[in-house]
Amino acid sequence: MANFKTHLNGAFAVSGVLGIVGYKAGLLGGHEFLICIALGTIGGLLPDIDSDNSTPIKLGFDFASLFFAFSLVMHWRSELSLLSLMALWLAGYGLMRYGIFHVFTKITVHRGIIHSVPYMGVLALGLVMLNYYLLDTTAMTSWFYGLFLFIGSMVHLGLDEAYSVDLLNSRLKRSSGTAMKLYSDSGRYWYIGLYALLAVGIVFAPPFTEFWSTLTDPITWMILKDGLLPRELFSSLTSTIR
Ligand SMILES: [Zn+2]
Repeated sequence: MANFKTHLNGAFAVSGVLGIVGYKAGLLGGHEFLICIALGTIGGLLPDIDSDNSTPIKLGFDFASLFFAFSLVMHWRSELSLLSLMALWLAGYGLMRYGIFHVFTKITVHRGIIHSVPYMGVLALGLVMLNYYLLDTTAMTSWFYGLFLFIGSMVHLGLDEAYSVDLLNSRLKRSSGTAMKLYSDSGRYWYIGLYALLAVGIVFAPPFTEFWSTLTDPITWMILKDGLLPRELFSSLTSTIR
């Protein structure tokens, strides 16, 4: 499977290109396209969050532990002495980082339920609904946010799949065929649950028609074609054709 750096670069490259295409086609605004690229990149790291020794979860847990310890200190900053606060900070960090994190790594298995297509679908749909219902984002932009997160995570699974093929002697490694996971019999109740969640999510999802008709509208792609080449080059090309 691919490493952290490959996932980061791959997801960033794909969502970067798609984000700029969306911007040039007038589908995404100035800051929306940046959020889309960020979400796509995050999506590219998400499937490995259940891995014991992957960099994102370590970074994430370091940050969460520090943040937790900091919140404890902030909460008691006026009641406790400086020395007690420092002890509290250390204890809070230690509890999270080496207590809860330790348990967390014990009970999770890499390429488990999170490392699958339906799990990422549920996350993406959840993001769409969060944006639409709670943050008052338009349906169109909410769908784009979810789409980019999903595309990023699919880039991740695709890269893992590609890296599981031994290119030198074109023999399939043992891990081949497990990355782009849609279903696994060992976790069948989890998968049934995920697909049920997905179905419920689709029923309550924000309206899809405007998003779809804009994407498939020829005018959208004419705008993109217009912005494809530098202006002078475009006009000289069209005058030559005429
Ligand atoms: Zn992975």
